Amino acid sequence: MPVLCSSCSEKRAVLKRPKTGHSLCKECFFWAFEEEVHQTIVAAELFKPGEAVGIAASGGKDSTVLAHVMKLLNERHSYGLQLMLISVDEGITGYRDDSLETVKRNQQQYELPLKIVSYEELYGWTMDAIVKQVGLKNNCTFCGVFRRQALDRGAIMLKVDKICTGHNADDVAETVLMNVLRGDIARLRRCTTISTASEGDGVVPRCKPLKYAYEKEIVLYAYFKKLDYFSTECIYSPNAYRGHARTFLKDLESIRPSSIVDIIHSGENLSVREGVKMPVQGTCSRCGYISSQALCKSCVLLEGLNRGLPKLGIGKHHRLHEKILSQQPLTENEERKLKSVDF
Ligand code: SF4
Ligand code: ZN
Repeated sequence: MPVLCSSCSEKRAVLKRPKTGHSLCKECFFWAFEEEVHQTIVAAELFKPGEAVGIAASGGKDSTVLAHVMKLLNERHSYGLQLMLISVDEGITGYRDDSLETVKRNQQQYELPLKIVSYEELYGWTMDAIVKQVGLKNNCTFCGVFRRQALDRGAIMLKVDKICTGHNADDVAETVLMNVLRGDIARLRRCTTISTASEGDGVVPRCKPLKYAYEKEIVLYAYFKKLDYFSTECIYSPNAYRGHARTFLKDLESIRPSSIVDIIHSGENLSVREGVKMPVQGTCSRCGYISSQALCKSCVLLEGLNRGLPKLGIGKHHRLHEKILSQQPLTENEERKLKSVDF
Protein backbone atom coordinates (compact mmCIF):
# COMPACT_ATOMS: atom_id res chain seq x y z
CA MET A 1 0.00 0.00 0.00
CA PRO A 2 1.38 3.45 -0.83
CA VAL A 3 2.43 5.49 2.18
CA LEU A 4 0.56 8.75 2.60
CA CYS A 5 2.32 12.02 3.30
CA SER A 6 2.53 12.43 7.07
CA SER A 7 1.99 16.15 6.74
CA CYS A 8 -1.03 16.56 4.41
CA SER A 9 -2.34 12.96 4.69
CA GLU A 10 -3.64 13.36 1.12
CA LYS A 11 -0.89 12.76 -1.36
CA ARG A 12 1.45 9.84 -1.67
CA ALA A 13 4.74 10.20 0.17
CA VAL A 14 7.67 10.18 -2.26
CA LEU A 15 10.51 10.53 0.19
CA LYS A 16 11.59 10.04 3.75
CA ARG A 17 13.13 13.22 5.12
CA PRO A 18 16.73 12.51 6.10
CA LYS A 19 16.52 15.10 8.87
CA THR A 20 13.33 13.96 10.61
CA GLY A 21 12.49 10.58 9.14
CA HIS A 22 9.01 11.85 8.11
CA SER A 23 7.48 10.45 4.94
CA LEU A 24 6.39 13.39 2.82
CA CYS A 25 4.94 14.22 -0.57
CA LYS A 26 6.94 16.48 -2.83
CA GLU A 27 4.98 19.66 -2.08
CA CYS A 28 5.08 19.19 1.70
CA PHE A 29 8.82 18.53 1.55
CA PHE A 30 9.40 21.70 -0.49
CA TRP A 31 7.33 23.71 1.95
CA ALA A 32 9.07 22.24 5.03
CA PHE A 33 12.53 22.79 3.57
CA GLU A 34 11.84 26.35 2.47
CA GLU A 35 10.12 27.38 5.68
CA GLU A 36 12.95 25.97 7.78
CA VAL A 37 15.37 28.19 5.87
CA HIS A 38 12.96 31.09 6.45
CA GLN A 39 12.93 30.29 10.20
CA THR A 40 16.72 30.27 10.23
CA ILE A 41 16.78 33.67 8.50
CA VAL A 42 14.18 35.18 10.85
CA ALA A 43 15.57 33.70 14.07
CA ALA A 44 19.09 34.96 13.36
CA GLU A 45 17.86 38.24 11.81
CA LEU A 46 20.14 37.68 8.86
CA PHE A 47 18.78 40.50 6.68
CA LYS A 48 17.17 43.90 6.92
CA PRO A 49 14.63 45.23 4.42
CA GLY A 50 16.25 47.17 1.60
CA GLU A 51 19.62 45.44 1.85
CA ALA A 52 21.56 44.43 -1.23
CA VAL A 53 22.62 40.79 -0.83
CA GLY A 54 25.18 38.96 -2.94
CA ILE A 55 24.69 35.22 -3.27
CA ALA A 56 27.99 33.42 -3.71
CA ALA A 57 27.21 31.24 -6.72
CA SER A 58 29.41 28.42 -7.93
CA GLY A 59 26.87 26.57 -10.04
CA GLY A 60 26.97 23.66 -7.56
CA LYS A 61 23.93 22.22 -5.78
CA ASP A 62 24.25 24.23 -2.56
CA SER A 63 24.55 27.66 -4.10
CA THR A 64 21.94 26.87 -6.76
CA VAL A 65 19.46 25.80 -4.08
CA LEU A 66 20.44 28.89 -2.07
CA ALA A 67 19.77 31.23 -5.02
CA HIS A 68 16.47 29.50 -5.77
CA VAL A 69 15.26 29.55 -2.14
CA MET A 70 16.47 33.12 -1.47
CA LYS A 71 14.58 34.42 -4.48
CA LEU A 72 11.47 32.47 -3.52
CA LEU A 73 11.50 33.53 0.16
CA ASN A 74 12.30 37.12 -0.73
CA GLU A 75 9.05 37.17 -2.69
CA ARG A 76 6.95 34.93 -0.43
CA HIS A 77 7.81 36.78 2.78
CA SER A 78 8.53 40.22 1.31
CA TYR A 79 12.06 40.51 2.67
CA GLY A 80 12.58 43.53 0.42
CA LEU A 81 16.08 42.40 -0.55
CA GLN A 82 17.93 43.23 -3.70
CA LEU A 83 19.58 39.95 -4.69
CA MET A 84 22.56 39.40 -6.99
CA LEU A 85 24.89 36.55 -7.84
CA ILE A 86 28.66 36.73 -7.32
CA SER A 87 30.89 34.07 -8.82
CA VAL A 88 34.57 33.45 -8.51
CA ASP A 89 36.45 32.16 -11.53
CA GLU A 90 39.47 30.32 -10.17
CA GLY A 91 40.74 29.58 -13.66
CA ILE A 92 40.35 25.80 -13.61
CA THR A 93 39.96 24.49 -17.14
CA GLY A 94 37.46 21.70 -17.50
CA TYR A 95 35.80 22.52 -14.20
CA ARG A 96 35.10 26.13 -13.41
CA ASP A 97 34.59 27.17 -17.02
CA ASP A 98 31.77 24.60 -17.25
CA SER A 99 30.24 25.41 -13.87
CA LEU A 100 30.24 29.12 -14.74
CA GLU A 101 28.08 28.27 -17.73
CA THR A 102 25.58 26.87 -15.22
CA VAL A 103 25.76 30.09 -13.19
CA LYS A 104 25.09 32.10 -16.35
CA ARG A 105 21.99 30.00 -17.03
CA ASN A 106 20.91 30.46 -13.39
CA GLN A 107 21.28 34.18 -13.88
CA GLN A 108 18.77 34.00 -16.74
CA GLN A 109 16.46 31.60 -14.90
CA TYR A 110 16.35 33.67 -11.73
CA GLU A 111 16.72 37.03 -13.45
CA LEU A 112 19.40 38.22 -11.07
CA PRO A 113 22.42 40.39 -11.88
CA LEU A 114 25.72 38.47 -11.95
CA LYS A 115 29.30 39.54 -11.29
CA ILE A 116 32.21 37.21 -12.00
CA VAL A 117 35.59 37.98 -10.42
CA SER A 118 38.57 35.99 -11.59
CA TYR A 119 41.83 35.02 -9.92
CA GLU A 120 43.64 35.92 -13.10
CA GLU A 121 42.28 39.45 -13.02
CA LEU A 122 42.80 39.93 -9.27
CA TYR A 123 46.08 38.11 -8.67
CA GLY A 124 47.57 37.55 -12.10
CA TRP A 125 47.45 33.76 -11.51
CA THR A 126 44.90 31.12 -12.50
CA MET A 127 44.58 27.93 -10.44
CA ASP A 128 45.82 26.04 -13.51
CA ALA A 129 49.06 28.03 -13.33
CA ILE A 130 49.27 27.76 -9.54
CA VAL A 131 48.94 23.96 -9.66
CA LYS A 132 51.73 23.86 -12.24
CA GLN A 133 53.95 25.62 -9.75
CA VAL A 134 52.86 24.23 -6.38
CA GLY A 135 51.62 20.77 -7.25
CA LEU A 136 48.49 19.03 -6.05
CA LYS A 137 49.09 18.96 -2.36
CA ASN A 138 48.64 22.52 -1.20
CA ASN A 139 46.63 23.95 -4.07
CA CYS A 140 43.45 24.25 -2.00
CA THR A 141 45.25 26.47 0.51
CA PHE A 142 45.92 28.99 -2.26
CA CYS A 143 42.46 28.57 -3.69
CA GLY A 144 40.64 28.96 -0.37
CA VAL A 145 42.55 32.05 0.71
CA PHE A 146 42.20 33.69 -2.69
CA ARG A 147 38.49 32.86 -2.92
CA ARG A 148 37.67 34.46 0.39
CA GLN A 149 39.25 37.71 -0.69
CA ALA A 150 37.92 37.51 -4.25
CA LEU A 151 34.35 37.24 -2.99
CA ASP A 152 34.85 40.32 -0.85
CA ARG A 153 36.27 42.23 -3.78
CA GLY A 154 33.34 41.18 -5.99
CA ALA A 155 30.90 42.18 -3.24
CA ILE A 156 32.52 45.59 -2.93
CA MET A 157 32.36 46.12 -6.70
CA LEU A 158 28.65 45.26 -6.59
CA LYS A 159 28.17 47.44 -3.50
CA VAL A 160 26.30 44.72 -1.63
CA ASP A 161 25.69 44.96 2.12
CA LYS A 162 26.07 41.24 2.73
CA ILE A 163 27.19 38.02 1.12
CA CYS A 164 25.33 34.79 1.70
CA THR A 165 27.03 31.49 1.04
CA GLY A 166 25.65 28.01 0.44
CA HIS A 167 27.37 26.35 3.42
CA ASN A 168 25.07 23.63 4.68
CA ALA A 169 24.84 21.78 8.01
CA ASP A 170 27.22 19.04 6.84
CA ASP A 171 29.83 21.64 5.83
CA VAL A 172 29.59 23.37 9.20
CA ALA A 173 29.76 20.10 11.17
CA GLU A 174 32.72 18.99 9.04
CA THR A 175 34.52 22.27 9.73
CA VAL A 176 33.87 21.90 13.49
CA LEU A 177 35.47 18.43 13.32
CA MET A 178 38.40 19.72 11.26
CA ASN A 179 39.06 22.54 13.71
CA VAL A 180 38.92 20.12 16.65
CA LEU A 181 41.28 17.74 14.86
CA ARG A 182 43.67 20.59 14.07
CA GLY A 183 43.34 22.20 17.51
CA ASP A 184 42.38 25.47 15.88
CA ILE A 185 40.48 27.05 18.76
CA ALA A 186 40.39 30.47 17.18
CA ARG A 187 38.37 29.12 14.27
CA LEU A 188 36.33 26.58 16.21
CA ARG A 189 33.83 29.02 17.59
CA ARG A 190 33.84 31.28 14.57
CA CYS A 191 33.07 28.49 12.11
CA THR A 192 29.63 27.85 13.59
CA THR A 193 28.46 31.46 13.69
CA ILE A 194 25.65 31.96 11.23
CA SER A 195 26.66 35.48 10.34
CA THR A 196 29.84 37.45 10.72
CA ALA A 197 29.94 41.19 11.14
CA SER A 198 32.36 43.15 8.99
CA GLU A 199 35.75 42.53 10.55
CA GLY A 200 37.32 45.54 8.92
CA ASP A 201 37.58 47.53 5.73
CA GLY A 202 37.26 45.42 2.64
CA VAL A 203 35.47 42.61 4.47
CA VAL A 204 31.78 42.26 3.73
CA PRO A 205 29.57 40.58 6.40
CA ARG A 206 28.67 37.00 5.52
CA CYS A 207 25.88 34.66 6.46
CA LYS A 208 24.81 31.05 5.91
CA PRO A 209 21.03 30.70 5.46
CA LEU A 210 21.44 26.94 4.81
CA LYS A 211 23.39 26.38 8.05
CA TYR A 212 20.83 23.90 9.37
CA ALA A 213 19.92 22.31 6.02
CA TYR A 214 21.24 18.77 5.60
CA GLU A 215 23.19 18.07 2.46
CA LYS A 216 20.99 15.08 1.68
CA GLU A 217 17.92 17.31 1.75
CA ILE A 218 19.58 19.89 -0.47
CA VAL A 219 20.27 17.16 -3.01
CA LEU A 220 16.64 15.95 -2.78
CA TYR A 221 15.32 19.49 -3.11
CA ALA A 222 17.46 20.21 -6.17
CA TYR A 223 16.50 16.87 -7.69
CA PHE A 224 12.74 17.16 -7.20
CA LYS A 225 12.72 20.82 -8.23
CA LYS A 226 14.78 19.86 -11.30
CA LEU A 227 17.19 22.71 -10.62
CA ASP A 228 19.92 23.29 -13.13
CA TYR A 229 23.21 22.70 -11.31
CA PHE A 230 26.70 21.42 -11.96
CA SER A 231 27.77 18.34 -10.08
CA THR A 232 31.30 17.52 -11.17
CA GLU A 233 34.06 17.71 -8.59
CA CYS A 234 37.02 20.01 -9.03
CA ILE A 235 39.81 18.31 -10.95
CA TYR A 236 42.33 19.54 -8.37
CA SER A 237 40.41 18.33 -5.35
CA PRO A 238 42.83 16.32 -3.19
CA ASN A 239 42.07 17.65 0.31
CA ALA A 240 42.46 14.18 1.74
CA TYR A 241 42.18 15.26 5.36
CA ARG A 242 38.84 16.99 4.87
CA GLY A 243 37.72 13.94 2.92
CA HIS A 244 38.33 11.74 5.97
CA ALA A 245 36.41 14.14 8.21
CA ARG A 246 33.58 14.00 5.68
CA THR A 247 33.54 10.19 5.58
CA PHE A 248 33.59 10.08 9.36
CA LEU A 249 30.64 12.47 9.50
CA LYS A 250 28.67 10.45 6.94
CA ASP A 251 29.30 7.29 9.01
CA LEU A 252 28.00 9.01 12.12
CA GLU A 253 24.99 10.29 10.20
CA SER A 254 24.08 6.81 9.03
CA ILE A 255 23.97 5.62 12.63
CA ARG A 256 22.26 8.71 14.00
CA PRO A 257 21.05 11.42 11.58
CA SER A 258 21.03 14.10 14.28
CA SER A 259 24.83 13.77 14.61
CA ILE A 260 25.23 16.59 12.11
CA VAL A 261 23.21 19.10 14.03
CA ASP A 262 24.56 17.78 17.35
CA ILE A 263 28.12 18.53 16.24
CA ILE A 264 27.06 22.03 15.18
CA HIS A 265 25.51 22.59 18.60
CA SER A 266 28.67 21.39 20.30
CA GLY A 267 30.69 23.86 18.25
CA GLU A 268 28.27 26.65 19.10
CA ASN A 269 28.51 25.97 22.80
CA LEU A 270 32.24 25.49 23.14
CA SER A 271 33.88 28.56 24.51
CA VAL A 272 37.48 29.49 24.91
CA ARG A 273 38.71 29.84 28.48
CA GLU A 274 39.57 33.34 29.53
CA GLY A 275 43.23 34.14 29.29
CA VAL A 276 43.86 31.91 26.24
CA LYS A 277 45.92 33.85 23.75
CA MET A 278 43.99 34.49 20.55
CA PRO A 279 45.32 36.05 17.35
CA VAL A 280 44.88 39.82 17.23
CA GLN A 281 43.15 41.05 14.11
CA GLY A 282 44.96 43.83 12.26
CA THR A 283 45.31 44.81 8.64
CA CYS A 284 47.73 43.72 5.94
CA SER A 285 50.44 46.32 5.43
CA ARG A 286 50.42 45.64 1.70
CA CYS A 287 46.80 45.32 0.58
CA GLY A 288 44.83 46.51 3.63
CA TYR A 289 42.85 43.30 4.00
CA ILE A 290 42.26 41.90 7.52
CA SER A 291 45.21 39.96 8.87
CA SER A 292 46.65 38.84 12.18
CA GLN A 293 50.17 39.14 10.74
CA ALA A 294 51.98 42.05 9.08
CA LEU A 295 51.03 40.58 5.72
CA CYS A 296 47.75 38.81 4.99
CA LYS A 297 47.82 35.19 3.92
CA SER A 298 46.84 36.12 0.40
CA CYS A 299 49.78 38.52 -0.02
CA VAL A 300 52.25 35.98 1.41
CA LEU A 301 50.99 33.25 -0.93
CA LEU A 302 51.18 35.62 -3.87
CA GLU A 303 54.68 36.75 -2.94
CA GLY A 304 55.72 33.10 -2.81
CA LEU A 305 54.22 32.40 -6.24
CA ASN A 306 55.76 35.45 -7.84
CA ARG A 307 59.21 34.66 -6.45
CA GLY A 308 59.09 30.99 -7.33
CA LEU A 309 59.08 30.10 -3.59
CA PRO A 310 55.62 28.50 -3.39
CA LYS A 311 56.09 27.14 0.13
CA LEU A 312 56.41 30.61 1.64
CA GLY A 313 52.76 30.76 2.65
CA ILE A 314 52.40 27.09 3.52
CA GLY A 315 53.20 25.92 7.02
CA LYS A 316 55.09 27.87 9.60
CA HIS A 317 57.54 30.13 7.90
CA HIS A 318 56.58 33.35 9.67
CA ARG A 319 60.18 33.85 10.66
CA LEU A 320 61.12 34.04 7.01
CA HIS A 321 58.41 36.51 6.00
CA GLU A 322 60.28 39.48 7.47
CA LYS A 323 63.48 38.40 5.81
CA ILE A 324 61.88 37.95 2.42
CA LEU A 325 59.99 41.21 2.54
CA SER A 326 62.97 43.26 3.61
CA GLN A 327 64.85 41.67 0.70
CA GLN A 328 67.45 39.99 2.89
CA PRO A 329 69.14 37.07 1.19
CA LEU A 330 67.99 33.58 2.16
CA THR A 331 70.36 30.81 3.04
CA GLU A 332 70.65 27.93 0.59
CA ASN A 333 68.79 25.71 3.00
CA GLU A 334 65.90 28.16 3.39
CA GLU A 335 65.58 28.57 -0.39
CA ARG A 336 65.48 24.83 -0.84
CA LYS A 337 62.73 24.49 1.75
CA LEU A 338 60.54 27.13 0.17
CA LYS A 339 61.03 25.84 -3.35
CA SER A 340 60.33 22.19 -2.87
CA VAL A 341 56.89 21.13 -4.01
CA ASP A 342 55.02 17.89 -3.52
CA PHE A 343 53.24 16.71 -6.60
FE1 SF4 B 1 39.90 25.28 -5.32
FE2 SF4 B 1 40.65 23.02 -4.10
FE3 SF4 B 1 38.07 23.69 -4.29
FE4 SF4 B 1 39.39 22.95 -6.46
S1 SF4 B 1 38.98 21.67 -4.66
S2 SF4 B 1 38.01 24.69 -6.29
S3 SF4 B 1 41.42 23.80 -6.06
S4 SF4 B 1 39.65 24.78 -3.13
ZN1 ZN C 1 47.34 41.52 1.91
